[in-house]
Amino acid sequence: MNGAGPRPIAALWEWQESAACRDVSDTLFFSPFRERGAARREREARAQKVCAGCPVREECAQFAMEIGEEHGTWGGMTSQERVELLRRPRGAAPARRAQRSAKAA
Ligand code: SF4
Repeated sequence: MNGAGPRPIAALWEWQESAACRDVSDTLFFSPFRERGAARREREARAQKVCAGCPVREECAQFAMEIGEEHGTWGGMTSQERVELLRRPRGAAPARRAQRSAKAA
């Protein structure tokens, strides 16, 4: 081999070793069945507070966008915020909700 092959798969996940959520329950980041309204917004806000102090927030957000993750809060963005970001035309201003999340982080 000449060393130009694919990177070891572990390299794709190493950033998770530094995740601020390593010891936090998944239930903070993923919506329970039928969760709606204020309960959902409040849980997502708590998750985003954890993300705001995370040293691998960018890697996490990029990963979620690249794999098209549909569920949960990743990189400080809720699933709805990721959908809004994907729908936004290039160069367009972000939606208000996504702007708030970015500022909070
Ligand atoms: S950005 Fe949030 S979801 Fe991603 S690793 Fe950090 S704390 Fe976890």
